[in-house]
Order: sequence, then structure tokens, then C-alpha cells
Amino acid sequence: MTPALAAALAERDAAGLYRRRRVVDGPGPHMRVDGRELVAFCSNDYLGLASHPEIAAACAAAAQRHGAGAGAAHLVCGHHALHEELEHALAAFTGRARALVFSTGYMANLGIGTALAGRGALVVEDRLNHASLIDASRAGGARVVRYAHGDAQAAAAKLAAEEARDRFVFTDGVFSMDGDVAPLAELADACRTHSATLVVDDAHGLGVLGATGRGSLEHCALSPADAPVLMGTLGKAFGVFGAFVAGPDEVIETLIQHARTYIYTTALPPALAAAALTALRISDDESWRRERVMELVTRFRGGAAARGIPLLDSPTPIQPLPVGSAPAALERARHLESRGFLVTAIRPPTVPEGTARLRVTLSAAHQDAEVDALLDALAEDVG
Ligand SMILES: *Cc1c(COP(=O)(O)O)cnc(C)c1O
Repeated sequence: MTPALAAALAERDAAGLYRRRRVVDGPGPHMRVDGRELVAFCSNDYLGLASHPEIAAACAAAAQRHGAGAGAAHLVCGHHALHEELEHALAAFTGRARALVFSTGYMANLGIGTALAGRGALVVEDRLNHASLIDASRAGGARVVRYAHGDAQAAAAKLAAEEARDRFVFTDGVFSMDGDVAPLAELADACRTHSATLVVDDAHGLGVLGATGRGSLEHCALSPADAPVLMGTLGKAFGVFGAFVAGPDEVIETLIQHARTYIYTTALPPALAAAALTALRISDDESWRRERVMELVTRFRGGAAARGIPLLDSPTPIQPLPVGSAPAALERARHLESRGFLVTAIRPPTVPEGTARLRVTLSAAHQDAEVDALLDALAEDVG
């Protein structure tokens, strides 16, 4: 077995597809990487909350008081008062009847897929959905049909062509590697016409998009009834860790009864629930963070256009620069690192073959001058 593994790894490396972890130190976006100070433009900390002192203090105080871990699964004796309080806050934040906290977004999506879309159900989904949502659609045994990225008409056609009692459309709100927003209004229409339920994974929209940071649905002027099941994460714009599903009472109760990724796992540490509660409040109180990151999006896109740097068409803090081949993307990332910037090269299978890219992400914690310096480095010819 081992020689075969070694050969496969060597082949992967030769194709420029090998994944290597960087050891980082310090809160973003200014972190030490292998002893060098770099400005990171690749985290999902869009509002700069991951290093917010008040959130860290809330986490530390709750850990002192309640310990480091939950000690058990939610259905045994791990469902802490802080989880309960966080669920109420998330339901209020998203304007929904209930919310259920999961340990990660990956697990929340798998919970949705297995508990709601089982054998006999139909899931119609965007080709570029996040890996966890794609895994989720398959995990429950539903019939899965994919449509071309962002093509709501194709989604409607798939719904019209397929029989099933329970029908779902699964989509990212903001696509994690492209930064564009799903055509949610058109998808909601298609779901209404064909009696399907729209499920939105808003990992990258919540906290960032919309006048009040309620995410992709607010950005598209939609209400909870348009997308009855909403998944959100606490580890991106909110800067903490964990995730949740928000929706009607019967959806949440079904998840509690049947979602194996909720039932058979230790509850999120209560201290993280305390941190997330503080992060939710601060994301509302410090709305300047949302305005600031959007100001940087405008600055970055304007600066890129002025320098002739091609970008994907994205209105969000995810600003990908298409490169093409995986080795070329790695080369560009190495060049940026030599200029003091950490930007990860995103390669297949995270993105389709031939579409490797630099995924630049902006944060309210970045300075104007840092964004300008990154643009200058991106404009340099790497040969
Ligand atoms: C990050 C991400 C997830 C997974 O969330 P975690 O809490 O990190 O497991 C799910 N969906 C999308 C679109 C994501 O970007």
C-alpha cells in the first residue's frame, strides 16, 4: 500500500496540486509565517472580528467559568444555557422561528442533507456549490441533479423534469471560490412554481452582505419564506467557530431527531457560544466594519481595473484573480509572498480543472495602503 501512496503523492506534487499547510502565528491579517511578517489576504475574517479583544475576552471569561469543553453531546447533557441563548440570538438575527447550533458548517450541511433530503427526495443544486453542500446532497440518498453555475432557468427546468415528493434546491448564497451571489430571487420563484424548498448556505454572506449584514437574502431583498432553510457559519465574518441552521420549528425539530452530525458528536464548547453571542452583537453595533470592507472591495476593484489586473465579477470581499494552471497559480502565490503577502493559490479539485486562481479576500482589518501595495504586487510580471 505505502509505495502506491508515495507514487500518488509524487504525481500530485508534479502536477502542482500538492497541498501544504503553512504554520502561522498571530491574529490576522498581520501574521508571522515561517518567521516572516506577512499581510494575509486569504482569510474569511471579513469584518476583522477574529482578533476583536471583546470577543476574545468573552470567550476567556466563559471558559474560566464553564470550562474548556461541553463534556457531552447536546442530547445527552451537553446542551448548555449558552447554546440555548445563542440559538435564540441566531433565530432573532435571521428573523426565523428557530435556530440550531452545529459544531461546524460541514456538519450542519450534512445534517440538512441526511435529515431533510433522504431516499426518494430530489436535490437540484448549483455545480459550484461548496464541497460540504455537495457531500450533503449525496449523503442522504436523494436523487441529485446539478445545474450550470448561477443558471436559475436550468434549475427550474430540472425541477420541472423530475418527479419527487420532497424537492429541494441547494445553493451557496455567496460562492466561496468565485465571490458571486446566487440568483436567489429567480431560484425562489422556481421553487415556488415547482413546490420545492430553497436551502441557502450563506457562509460567506451573513454579517457582510445587505444593509444590516443579514446576508445574501437581504442583499437580494428576499424574506425567510423565500428560502425556508438557512445555513450560516460562525467562523467566517463572525470570526469565531461553529455553525447553525435556521428555519421553521418543524425543520429544527427534525434535525434534532435525525441529523446524525448533530446527535452523535460533542457539543460546541460553551465558551465559543459566548464568543459567538458577543460577535453577533458587535457585528450589529460596529456596522462601520461592513461599510469598511465594502469600501475596500471598491478600492481593490478600481485599482485592479486601473492596473489591467483581470478579476472575476464579484461584488463581495471574495475577489478571485483567474490564473488557469495550478503551477502558474502557485508561482503567482510565491511571488506575492516574496512581496510580503499571503494569498493562497486555489487549485483543482477545489475549483474545476483549468480554473486555478488566486483567491484574494478583503477584511475590515486591512489598511488602504496594504490593499494598494497588494495591487502593485499583483500587477508585476512574474514571467
Ligand atoms: C466554510 C464553508 C462551509 C463550512 O463551514 P465550517 O464551519 O468551516 O465547517 C460550508 N459552506 C460554505 C459555503 C463554506 O464556505
